[in-house]
Amino acid sequence: MNEETNKERLIKSVRNIPDFPIPGIQFKDVTTLFKDAECLQILSDTMYDMYKDKGITKVIGIESRGFIMGPILATRLKTGFVPIRKPGKLPAEVIEECYDKEYGTDCVQIHKDAIDENDIVLLHDDLLATGGTMKAACSLVKKLNPKKIYVNFIIELEELKGKDIFDDDVEIESILSL
Ligand code: AMP
Repeated sequence: MNEETNKERLIKSVRNIPDFPIPGIQFKDVTTLFKDAECLQILSDTMYDMYKDKGITKVIGIESRGFIMGPILATRLKTGFVPIRKPGKLPAEVIEECYDKEYGTDCVQIHKDAIDENDIVLLHDDLLATGGTMKAACSLVKKLNPKKIYVNFIIELEELKGKDIFDDDVEIESILSL
């Protein structure tokens, strides 16, 4: 299958759930991609092709939907996998970054020894909406001084323009723009 056919196959397999978890949100459910063997293979192959020549040394997944394709991609790229989690979940010494949400604040944490200045990292999450979560994850990872940061999403919600809040030194790509 060619690239366009693959994308169409993925787009028609994303389940849209109106008004979840609150009225007004069109929730993009990626579990319908993961349960479909052909879609899961397309995702894995597409992400592998996007990043195979970038010298990535660690894939970093954002809790919790970044924990599915993240490790799959890490095994394809033969890199390590590192989780970024919500506070109180990681057992060893962590660093933290907090960010403002529509209501209140949220924080993300990573183990302090998870990456170092020799790493080229790829941060992965399922979906880019406003970008707040991934921006905080990037700021967190920058504190550990990796050589380069790539960012990847399965889906980008284009009209929210989440990409605009990122610094130019971070390379962001999505498989699907909806
Ligand atoms: P944001 O920080 O606004 O970019 O939100 C990104 C996080 O919220 C991701 O981890 C997504 O899984 C989740 N999310 C936000 N909006 C949606 C949506 N419309 N459909 C599915 N997940 C969403």
